[in-house]
Amino acid sequence: MSVMDEHIDQRNKIFSHCAQSPIDINVSNAEQLTLPGLKWTNYERVPQTMFLRNSGETLILLPEWNGDAPYVRGGPFDENYIFSAIHFHWGPTINGSEHSVDDVRMPLEMHAIHYKEKYLKFEAAKKHDDGLLFLVYFCDLKSNHSPVLDRLLSKLQHIQKADTKVLIEPFPVEDLLNPFVSDYFLYYGSIATSTPTPVTWIITRKVTAISPEQVEL
Ligand SMILES: [Zn+2]
Repeated sequence: MSVMDEHIDQRNKIFSHCAQSPIDINVSNAEQLTLPGLKWTNYERVPQTMFLRNSGETLILLPEWNGDAPYVRGGPFDENYIFSAIHFHWGPTINGSEHSVDDVRMPLEMHAIHYKEKYLKFEAAKKHDDGLLFLVYFCDLKSNHSPVLDRLLSKLQHIQKADTKVLIEPFPVEDLLNPFVSDYFLYYGSIATSTPTPVTWIITRKVTAISPEQVEL
């Protein structure tokens, strides 16, 4: 059995149990895998429009491209996963991230939502075990500011109420999502909706820098 087949086999087994996400990643229990590198395409393209939306539960960045949206492939995947949106998750304390690594949480966590190209749309992809891919970025307090996060946060005053959105000046999503090739955690979990929806999670070990002011949201 090839590494890829073994993976698919493993994923099918795990999906039948629908492990709850988020989880704590226990590094010493993680199994090391050798996979092809992840390949990122079109993440440098400037979207045509970009909205920032307050869903009431999370902050969502929604870019729209005129054709050719960004997509990722490689790693455990032999097909394209199309970029769809970014979620921001934080909490009332400095340990606001959803996932943790060896029980350590970070102030902020970004989810880059992707769906499998062959299912054409996010809603259709949700119905398949291999339909959704969420890339996770942890953000930690550092002295260097992220100018892109500044730009987003300056708009928050316009969307204080749940279910409101604001148009923002488009920028390439790679300004937020640093493309990585390897050195990540991979697990098969889910998202909590009315019925648990299977999700492949990839968590980069590269931490994104934010300033203390940026988490006082
Ligand atoms: Zn999320």
